Amino acid sequence: MRTAASARTGSGMSSTPTETKTALVIGAGLAGANIAERLAARGWQIEVVESADAPALGASGNPAGIVRPQLARDDALAARFSRACYTYLLHRLAELPECQWTACGVLQIARDNDHEALQQATVQELKLPPDYVQFLSRGCAEQMVGQPLSHGAWWFPQGGWLNPATLCTALLARFQNTVRCSFRTAVVRLSYDETRWTAYNADDQPVATAHHVVLANAHAANNLLEQALPLTVIRGQINYLPADALPPVGQVLCRNGYLTPAYDGYVSFGASFVNDDIDQALRPVEQTGNLQRLQEILPKADLDRHIFGSQPLMGRVALRTATPDRLPLIGGIPACTKKSARLATQANLMRLPGLYALLGLSARGIVWAPLAAEHLACLMNDEPSPLPADMANAIDAGRFLVKQLRRG
Ligand SMILES: Cc1cc2nc3c(=O)[nH]c(=O)nc-3n(C[C@H](O)[C@H](O)[C@H](O)COP(=O)(O)OP(=O)(O)OC[C@H]3O[C@@H](n4cnc5c(N)ncnc54)[C@H](O)[C@@H]3O)c2cc1C
Repeated sequence: MRTAASARTGSGMSSTPTETKTALVIGAGLAGANIAERLAARGWQIEVVESADAPALGASGNPAGIVRPQLARDDALAARFSRACYTYLLHRLAELPECQWTACGVLQIARDNDHEALQQATVQELKLPPDYVQFLSRGCAEQMVGQPLSHGAWWFPQGGWLNPATLCTALLARFQNTVRCSFRTAVVRLSYDETRWTAYNADDQPVATAHHVVLANAHAANNLLEQALPLTVIRGQINYLPADALPPVGQVLCRNGYLTPAYDGYVSFGASFVNDDIDQALRPVEQTGNLQRLQEILPKADLDRHIFGSQPLMGRVALRTATPDRLPLIGGIPACTKKSARLATQANLMRLPGLYALLGLSARGIVWAPLAAEHLACLMNDEPSPLPADMANAIDAGRFLVKQLRRG
């Protein structure tokens, strides 16, 4: 048996006969649930192995995440990728009525006068359809929200907020005959025996075997690889307030932070960003930061007793997994190599056979994961991807190693 590091290398595409089609997916958050569903839709047999008691208890466990695209005046690749992902997510949500989501629209309030001018110019120049994005003057935005605001805003009428756990559950339940989930099972080691991968638990007992493995376990993926992928952790805390503590708001409001409309009697707001910090305890200092971001969103809301009071609010901490260029890592995992290779390309890079990444979803996983999973399912099933080549290369799991090899 060989480890994930020493497995024979391949092209990154599966050489397994197509009739086999088995995959082990490690992690049942947004990444794992989306890829399990996309592969099952193609007739694959899937085993999802998750260390927690249920789906979506890690980064994907916040009660409400924001559904909106990123926009950039130059419409650079990250913005185009975000647009493709957002459009695909909206299309998928129409097929998943069990997912709890509200298309209440998202208002992204400008941070200052310069940002407001940039927002306006971006909408004018990109000429995106008004059901995708509009620029609202401060007066129009205030009229919509019914509250005083600091500046004008981008308005995403089709956006909203979504409960990620219900999305993960709906995806995992869609093909019940072919997607099997094992919870309370942490994979601590992988081995490869020429045709199949086997996952082992902490007692070194095999827990699952398959021709293909997708690492969908966020930053913990590096525990299973000899050559670490360039993944970093960003701690994020959100807090909750009883809905009657704030004026009622019908849209998601974003600025430097965000505020969701009320659900189950509470609003969510946040979030903090703390690099390289894996502690998951709630912190008063991050609660204060979240309240200050909330105050910037609703300048006239009476938050002083929460900001200056000593009462801890309810909240939740989770860890985002990011990459140095803030795009995800999707595709065949590169084989361990120490040699420099000035002619290395993403196409000729050696990959571990049948071992794939769906990682680095950062603070965008709700929006990115569905299309990232569809792209990965196409790679694994030897189909053309819906993504153009520049986007596929920009998110490829081998891109950082290619740069490193070329530098020598
Ligand atoms: C505070 C905060 C706010 C956010 N807001 C938004 C937002 O508004 N919009 C948006 O689009 N995105 C948002 N995100 C990002 C989004 O939530 C993440 O990108 C997404 O949840 C990542 O999903 P994942 O499946 O990669 O990771 P996770 O959900 O963390 O899933 C990984 C899973 O792998 C399991 N696991 C780990 N190791 C093992 C192992 N060895 N064996 C078995 N199982 C294992 C874990 O238990 C976990 O369930 C936010 C994130 C945070 C933290």
